[in-house]
Amino acid sequence: MNRRSFLKWANLAGLAIGLPSARAFEGASDEAKAGVLANAAAPKRIAPRETILLKDYRPKSIYKIPVTEIARAKFPVIDMHSHPYAKTAPQIEEWVKNMDEVGVEKTIILTMAVGAEFDDIQRKYAQYPERFEMWCGFDFAGYDKPKFGPAAIKELERCQQAGARGVGEIHDKGKGLVSGKSQPDIVGLSGMIDILERTAARHPSTTFVACHFANLDYDLGRLGQVLGRHPNLYADISARYAETAPIPRFAAQFYAKHADRLVYGTDMGFDKPMYRITFRILESLDEHFYEVEQFSYHWSLNGLGLSDAILKQVYHDNAAKLLGTHRG
Ligand SMILES: [Zn+2]
Repeated sequence: MNRRSFLKWANLAGLAIGLPSARAFEGASDEAKAGVLANAAAPKRIAPRETILLKDYRPKSIYKIPVTEIARAKFPVIDMHSHPYAKTAPQIEEWVKNMDEVGVEKTIILTMAVGAEFDDIQRKYAQYPERFEMWCGFDFAGYDKPKFGPAAIKELERCQQAGARGVGEIHDKGKGLVSGKSQPDIVGLSGMIDILERTAARHPSTTFVACHFANLDYDLGRLGQVLGRHPNLYADISARYAETAPIPRFAAQFYAKHADRLVYGTDMGFDKPMYRITFRILESLDEHFYEVEQFSYHWSLNGLGLSDAILKQVYHDNAAKLLGTHRG
């Protein structure tokens, strides 16, 4: 069950977690009581049934430990994973302003679009050619017909001439590229990683960027092995901040080992708090903080405290190398 389906399920089921009775803390100190209550959101929510819905749970850290506010990334950033979230000229302008404030030099827009849809997005963002780079989709029309191929290649070439610098985001959740939904009795994630590996091996002169740590954020050891086997494979770190922040020491070791193959990405809109929480997780050594609104998780997060050298590579240099190659 992925995060979204879990949340949907939790909402539908009205998942409730029992909280200990206030009576259980009668012997505890005032501080301990305050801690428990702070952790359980507003006390009045607990009464009368002493239950709270998971969706309403807003834990707060009780620790008096350093809190790092990072308004701007320590080094210039290239965001390798975003989408055309801004639809109007004022929204695009606001996005650029936000990028300026937080230190994002350039954003790669994975349009997943072809034809008139791609042209339309391209036109909208054309005012900022230095700040946004457009990637197109594949034209999958007739993919299951014998003559599939030439028309898709032709459209790819047309998009490239119109300004596309890469292709993405391509989804395959186990049932082929057209279907975006996971279903039972199809290839699972492990099998999909095997497919990714075969694809990377078969096309050594194509550079692949696996989105979201190839969804191996829970098994970074395997991702390390996969990266080791395929020099043309990179991974973006987008939308997996809250999944790696609970294991800061192991995650930081992974970054150190594969710093030349990881690229920064967001995939989460374009507001300033969104960018800033990613910087806090990558740069700071803060511990035990919560960010439920952004990530929809209720567990505590920790900063990875990456070194300057690693930050420079992940924020910028690896992406610049890739984009340079694409232009070459
Ligand atoms: Zn995406």
